[in-house]
Amino acid sequence: MGSIVDELEAILPPGQLDAGEVTLRRYAVDQAPVIDFQLPLAVVFPESVADVQAVVKACAGSGVAIVPRGAGTGVSGGAHATTNCIILSLERMDRILALNPDDETATVEPGVVNAVLNEAAAEHGLMYAPDPASFRSSTVGGNVATNAGGLRCAKYGVTRDSVLALDVVLADGSLIHTGHQTFKGVAGYDLTGLFVGSEGTLGIVVGITVRLKYLPREVHTVAAFYPDFKSAAAGVLAVGRARVQPAIMELLDGGTLIQLDDLHGSDLTARGKSLLLVQTDGFGAAAEADVVRQVLRAGGATVTTEASAEAERLVELRRHSRGTEVDDEYRVGEDVAVPRSRLVDYVAALEAMAAAQRVHLKVVAHAGDGNLHPTFWIDRKGPDVEAGAMERLQVALDESISAALAMGGTITGEHGVGQYKLRWLGQEQPEPIRELQRRIKDLFDPAGILNPGKAI
Ligand SMILES: Cc1cc2nc3c(=O)[nH]c(=O)nc-3n(C[C@H](O)[C@H](O)[C@H](O)COP(=O)(O)OP(=O)(O)OC[C@H]3O[C@@H](n4cnc5c(N)ncnc54)[C@H](O)[C@@H]3O)c2cc1C
Repeated sequence: MGSIVDELEAILPPGQLDAGEVTLRRYAVDQAPVIDFQLPLAVVFPESVADVQAVVKACAGSGVAIVPRGAGTGVSGGAHATTNCIILSLERMDRILALNPDDETATVEPGVVNAVLNEAAAEHGLMYAPDPASFRSSTVGGNVATNAGGLRCAKYGVTRDSVLALDVVLADGSLIHTGHQTFKGVAGYDLTGLFVGSEGTLGIVVGITVRLKYLPREVHTVAAFYPDFKSAAAGVLAVGRARVQPAIMELLDGGTLIQLDDLHGSDLTARGKSLLLVQTDGFGAAAEADVVRQVLRAGGATVTTEASAEAERLVELRRHSRGTEVDDEYRVGEDVAVPRSRLVDYVAALEAMAAAQRVHLKVVAHAGDGNLHPTFWIDRKGPDVEAGAMERLQVALDESISAALAMGGTITGEHGVGQYKLRWLGQEQPEPIRELQRRIKDLFDPAGILNPGKAI
């Protein structure tokens, strides 16, 4: 019997398989830290559902693992290659199959980039609400597989709230359709909801029907600069207590403002030590923004009324606030969420951890959802590295997870468990819950070929 690469080469149309060293290396990892680097056997680029089915059937027959991949922007190692695997890239399945303005739905292939769907929807006064900061490159399929969040989630919910139906290729190569084209529908178990966020471990998503929302005609952005991070976090709660629902509520600490100024030549640090960025939208946007300004000023903020171009620029800067660096052993970032009432306590706890461990800290947060991305880091050269800082960095990271859990939070608000966060999963989920999930995985994928070693 020949190798799986030969077999796939024989069954796939020409040009859909690449086993060249450069491609293998390029597709071996996503944007997460690499724990156990593996090269895939090949990367395949199916162009139709039938191609995906053929790949899955061949791999099932040979017991070869399949790692599905969208744009590879994941930050948990969900798309990292594993031993004896092929990477199944969905990037060429990038057609918008239907856009139904009256139904307010769209059906897309998984490789459609989030921003492309949004551009198409905007022509009808609609939008696809989930907007991860990676929206210009990440795919709707990847967003579905990770149940991605984003800036607008504060008002519009996460990916799961927008997915109505899925086409999924199962581990034996068969194709199923779950869900419905309607907003409502409660027949049977919610398999659509189960696939959303399953990180490619239960099936390959090959078609997605999403609910669209109205593109707001009016948007107002309020930028509130604070003298310290804790008061800015308190501002989030104050807006909630005023019963105003912003579309976006993002929190940036001093370390993030310094980095943004360095990268983009902005003057944010001259304006404050922390920035709360609040965007209201819809017909009541101006009235809501007025209330937000009053509430935040009362909490000690210097509030600016941004002209729309400047406001857009601040939101854009926030979208780039992960910076250009990728996490590695010197820089570790997380994605915890805490109940909103604990935001201020959690921010204080993070600052205390960083000080105690003598590591640098920067934090950006989708604060409306209590979802924080703290990054701890040490200098790559110099005294830091020699003085046991690598160990202290890991201590700070572990403490940041334990503290979030102790406050009733979660180890991952939106990035998924992937490979990287598996080490903390047992702290959040007791064994009976994990065992139940293993049994679900066994039911869908008895041979364990779909993205093994990820998510659960
Ligand atoms: C700068 C930057 C900003 C980011 N901002 C956010 C943010 O605001 N919110 C957020 O939630 N995330 C964010 N992320 C993380 C990342 O963009 C999301 O997790 C995104 O959903 C991944 O999409 P992708 O197409 O790149 O998927 P990939 O990274 O390729 O894959 C992600 C996971 O989905 C699986 N998968 C991909 N496609 C399929 C499919 N069709 N069927 C089955 N499984 C599949 C993969 O196996 C993997 O487990 C950010 C990342 C970066 C680099």
